[in-house]
Parts: sequence; structure tokens; C-alpha cells
Amino acid sequence: MENSKNRLFLFGGPKTIKSEFEPYHSIGREETEAVRQVMESGVLSQFLGVWHKDFYGGEKVREFEKAWMDFFGVKHAISVNSATSGLIAAIGAIGIEPGDEVIVSPWTMCASATAILHWNAIPVFADIEPETFNLDPKSVEDNITPYTKAIMAVDIFGHPADMDALSAIADKHDLKIISDSAQSPGALINANYAGTLADIGSYSLNYHKHIHTGEGGILVTNDDEIAERLRLIRNHAEAVVEEKDQVDLKNMLGYNFRLGEIECAIGIEQLKKLDGFVSARQRVARRLTTGLYDLPGLRTPVIKANCTHAYYMYPLVLDIEKIGIKRHIIYRALLAEGVQGLSEGYVTLHLLPMYQKKIAYGSKGFPWTSEICHRDIEYHRGICPIAEDLQENSYLGYKMCLNDLNDDDVDLIVMAFRKVWSNLDNLKDLGNDF
Ligand SMILES: *Cc1c(COP(=O)(O)O)cnc(C)c1O
Repeated sequence: MENSKNRLFLFGGPKTIKSEFEPYHSIGREETEAVRQVMESGVLSQFLGVWHKDFYGGEKVREFEKAWMDFFGVKHAISVNSATSGLIAAIGAIGIEPGDEVIVSPWTMCASATAILHWNAIPVFADIEPETFNLDPKSVEDNITPYTKAIMAVDIFGHPADMDALSAIADKHDLKIISDSAQSPGALINANYAGTLADIGSYSLNYHKHIHTGEGGILVTNDDEIAERLRLIRNHAEAVVEEKDQVDLKNMLGYNFRLGEIECAIGIEQLKKLDGFVSARQRVARRLTTGLYDLPGLRTPVIKANCTHAYYMYPLVLDIEKIGIKRHIIYRALLAEGVQGLSEGYVTLHLLPMYQKKIAYGSKGFPWTSEICHRDIEYHRGICPIAEDLQENSYLGYKMCLNDLNDDDVDLIVMAFRKVWSNLDNLKDLGNDF
């Protein structure tokens, strides 16, 4: 009896999780009411792309930015229509020149690196720490050349990057730091919010993030000049600089990166809920870790002593040698037990075709083959061994953004893992081709 109950679904046993979890849903009555008010006003965006009082946007844009500044304790917040737009604006605003090198993690969403290319600058991938999946400061230092001008420090999965070490490197080599904190709003490092310790911090407000406005993003900085350059790039800089008396024309190539009144009205309400969403995920994560930490060959999330984790992902790492089975089999077994929201691996940006073939602008290898690029940039397999190994062999993520998990759901997930772990010997017999 006991045996058959513990039999894996793959082997004809009962499925551990029989129903779908409740989807994560962060929008409530408050947002609906806020949107209704904007709709009734008829002013869905008040931005003007000329030097005018509406250059900075309408009432809700300003109110949202003020709320973000107050919450995060920063001098400036600049809303944008996505974090991708925000990162592009950020690279321009720190004064990057074509051919400058910016060090970035390969273990991040693609926009962290393409933002660099958009200004014809060169992404240089440094490896990550196996514990936090964030840039390894040692590898950053190894990748610095006379052409390095900035570090794109991504706070991946909800854990802040090592800003103490990265700031020390930046000071030593006179580099700017941009924090891509899209996955870490509300996470803390040395009692500061992730994103607020860099020259510019960037957050995403897309549907999949902790809080969202459908699409959207927001930047923070304590530097008045950088803030103004961000606002210019957001809103057709080139058409505005003359009237505004902006004398430094560097990178005053503008876009329409403006976020609308509706989104900002939603953002104001969402921001009020951020603390609650983050602590709910932290509770889920603690319960998962309590249930999983003793499973041999499974590493539950590592949180550094000076940090908190916002758990966009709940990252797990398998010790494949210890377990003696490939990740794919464990993954298949967990999936069969009904565990939803798992991902095998995450991403290794340098292995994308664009970098492997060096085809971005046009077909002839620009910017890498152009004279603006100072040296031969290497993107081959092997430059980031830790990230590559995690991707190919050992990383198993649980997407905390997909579902609203209650304690019972978490306990079922734990049961599924424990069932799979108690069947490792049976799974071994399947062979690695399964
Ligand atoms: C989601 C995300 C982005 C991009 O956000 P958008 O608002 O969708 O443009 C950038 N970086 C990271 C790490 C992300 O997770």
C-alpha cells in the first residue's frame, strides 16, 4: 500500500498535485477605480515632446514618480514605457560613447545587454556567482579593459548584486553602474532598496513582475544631471535641447519612452501593495526551503547576510554528481507529479545567435567589426563557465511570479519533490536518454 502511494506518476502511481494553482493576480478594485478616474478625465497622456510644462508629463505621471521617490528614498524617479526603454535611456544618460565597453551578466533578460548595443557600445559578458547568480566581482575585474565605461549590475531573481564589491571596482576604474532591478523591487542590500545604490536603478512594471501596469518601467537616480538626461531621452531630446538650454548634446537622441496616465494611475495603487507582495513571496519561499533544504543534492536559495530576497524566482541548484541523474529526468518527474512553474535553466545571453554570429545592426557585424570597436570581443562558449554549467546542467528554477501559492500548495510542491527524491534509484534505471 505504502509503496504504491509513493510510486511516481511516471511509473503509474498517483499524481501529487491534481489541480492548477491560482494564478498570481495583483490587480484589485483600487486599480480599477484609479483607471476609471483617468478615463473620465479624458486625459490619457499629457506629455508634449517640446520644452513646455507638459514636457514632464501629466498629473498621474508626476504623482506616480513622486510616490516611487518617497518609497525608495531617492531624489529622482523617471517613469518609462518599459524597463527595456529604461535601460536604453540609462545607457545613453551616463554618457556612453560608441565602442565603449559595458560589462554585463549573461544570466539575465536579453534587454540588459541589448540596451548597450542600442548606443553602439559593446556588451562584455562576465561570469556569475554560483550562489546568487549575479555578476561575480572577480570576473568583472578580469574583464575590465581601458575601454570599459560601465557595469550593468543585474539583481537577478530577487537577490541584489554585490554592490559593495562592484562599487569598489567602479570607484577604482571610474565606471558608472546601472542596476537592472527588474526582478528585485523591494529587496534590500545593507538596508537600502536594490536599485538605489547605483548611478541609475531600473525597475520593470510588465505584467510578469511583482507589481505591474501592463507594460511599464521606472528609473531612479540621485544625480540631478543624469535625471534630466533621462527625461530628455524619454521625450524627444533633440527637439527640446535648444529651448531648454541643454548645452551638452552628447546622446541627446530622443525616443518616445513615455508612460501614460492610465498606467501611472495603476502604478500608484500597485506600489502601495509592493511590500505585501514581497513578504507573501518571502513566506512561500521560507516554507519551501523548510520542506526542501535537507534533500541531498538539492541546494535551496542562498541569501547573503546583508541582503533580503524578493523571490521573482525561487532558484534551486542540483548537485548532479551526487544525485547521479541528469536534471532533465528530475524535471520530467516533477512535472509529471503536477509541479507547475518549473524551469530547467534560465538563459546564457552570450550564446544567443546575435552574439555567436555577431549580427546585430545590418548583416556585416556592426558594431563588432567596425573601427569603433577597439578589440576582438569573445562570446564563445567557455567565457562564463559558471553560467553555462548552471544553464546546461544544474539550475532548476521555480517561477514565483506565476501563481498565488497558499500553504497547502506549497506543501504539495514539497511532497512532490520529496516523492521524486525517494524514487531517485528508480529514476536512475530509466537511463539518461529518457
Ligand atoms: C523583465 C526584465 C526586463 C525588461 O522589462 P520590460 O519592462 O519587459 O522591458 C529587464 N531586465 C530584467 C532582468 C527583467 O527581468
